[in-house]
Amino acid sequence: MGGPRYDLLVIGGGINGAGVAADAAGRGLSVCLVEQGDLASGTSQASSKLIHGGLRYLEHFEFRLVREALLEREVMLDRAPHIVWPLRFVLPEADGLRSRLRVQAGLFLYDHLARRRRIPASRAIDLTADPAGGVLRSDLRRGFSYWDCWVDDARLVVLNARLAAMHGAQIRTRTRVTALARGDEAWTATLDVGGRRETCQARVVVNAAGPWADRAAALARDNAAAGAVHLRLVKGSHIVVPRIAGAEDGFLFQNIDGRVVFVLPFETAFTLIGTTDVAISGSPAEATCSAEEEDYLLAAANRFLARPLERGDIIWRFAGVRPLQADEDQSNPSALSRDYALELSGTGAGTAMLSIIGGKVTTYRRLAEAVMDRLAPLFPGLRPAWTASRHLPGGDIPNGDFGLYVEGLSRLYAWIPEVMMLALARRHGTATREVIGDARRLDDMGSLFPGGLSAREVGYLVANEWAMTADDILWRRTKAGLHATLAGCEEAVKGAVCALLPSNRP
Ligand SMILES: Cc1cc2nc3c(=O)[nH]c(=O)nc-3n(C[C@H](O)[C@H](O)[C@H](O)COP(=O)(O)OP(=O)(O)OC[C@H]3O[C@@H](n4cnc5c(N)ncnc54)[C@H](O)[C@@H]3O)c2cc1C
Repeated sequence: MGGPRYDLLVIGGGINGAGVAADAAGRGLSVCLVEQGDLASGTSQASSKLIHGGLRYLEHFEFRLVREALLEREVMLDRAPHIVWPLRFVLPEADGLRSRLRVQAGLFLYDHLARRRRIPASRAIDLTADPAGGVLRSDLRRGFSYWDCWVDDARLVVLNARLAAMHGAQIRTRTRVTALARGDEAWTATLDVGGRRETCQARVVVNAAGPWADRAAALARDNAAAGAVHLRLVKGSHIVVPRIAGAEDGFLFQNIDGRVVFVLPFETAFTLIGTTDVAISGSPAEATCSAEEEDYLLAAANRFLARPLERGDIIWRFAGVRPLQADEDQSNPSALSRDYALELSGTGAGTAMLSIIGGKVTTYRRLAEAVMDRLAPLFPGLRPAWTASRHLPGGDIPNGDFGLYVEGLSRLYAWIPEVMMLALARRHGTATREVIGDARRLDDMGSLFPGGLSAREVGYLVANEWAMTADDILWRRTKAGLHATLAGCEEAVKGAVCALLPSNRP
């Protein structure tokens, strides 16, 4: 027993765990975050990658959630303009579905529920004149446009982990909590670190295990110390196709089952289509995109697209599991609340466990503040909230003007190809110079891979971002894996990246 002692042990390195770790560490608490796999390897890498109010949630009267989420768009644009940017959405009118008046009323609320500074208002558009109309069937003549934000979800997690570490937090990946024992002053957590057993102590446990939160709560040997957590697991899948010609906007397509499906520009060369709502009961780790879900998404998109997509167009697919609040009265998974809840069990140091249920990528920062509010009585003298006005690492771009910043970098590093420069700047913002380091010409970057990845960047990701395997690099720290798949050289790239890693792990 024993091991290092912390104020807070955070279980789970998804967006909620990383966000709580950063907030708590910045308020002066000693924090350890443990993640059984890689950072963002759970649900947080598999979202639709939107910082959005959630237009659809208005139909379920989730005004609190929508307002909070709408406000966060502006906050996140300021904090991380390299990985968050505004995206225009086009919503074509569809016969027999929601009426024009109903959509208009929803958009009016969306525009006015929260103050906007940088996000434009919605408006009616003529699809015969708007460039977006070219992507759609020619008989679709009217629609609306509105704005939300895009985010690189996996990088958002990593940047929050970095922020936490900058404030002294320990970030331990490939470390699984296998047992939790209550004590007089502190919990003792048993950790499995790649087969090796370790322990650590913490006054309070934050259970941010996402779709595993019920299992994490049950690890407490004394059940009185940890309240039961009830989740509904709802799988959502996406498919990726090469960029649909002209589809530079996001599209929101209404489906005949009352749901909506997003068609989104993804990286520079792809279109992302999602998502589904499938209730599951098995292990979240085993969720995959089924053939039925692929067909569903293709059919939903093809009802609107000028050039229908086929199965053969799909180059990648992924599934994630939403950890939603259980609601006995609701059988429709699409109608379950996307809001979060916090369950605090135990009353003092050594017994208190706070479990996070639900939550959106969009609202992770507010959720972290709510967690700290709940824990404040246990930590007298806790510093006040601070994250709203603090940039994420690499986000301190002058005036938040990403375009201008990249132009400056391109002048400074004229020997870096444009595509690579843009990819580096999107991933690292003002830390791009750190990644390039003392390289003076392209050869100095080492082997080059699709998606603007280089051996030098791999080294940086290993040294600074807890990347250990080729998949960490190719699918979470970057999406170079996707570019390699499109180029038909995924295995070769994976092997080459693997050879660069100290761990040599795929
Ligand atoms: C299809 C889909 C689309 C979505 N789209 C959006 C969107 O566009 N915008 C938006 O705002 N939200 C979206 N969401 C919601 C959002 O993705 C999730 O709410 C969010 O990612 C949940 O984050 P989390 O940190 O709670 O969970 P996770 O990311 O799953 O993190 C939990 C982590 O805990 C770890 N863990 C579990 N047990 C243990 C243990 N015993 N020891 C150590 N580690 C452990 C897991 O490995 C995992 O990495 C979407 C969700 C889905 C499924």
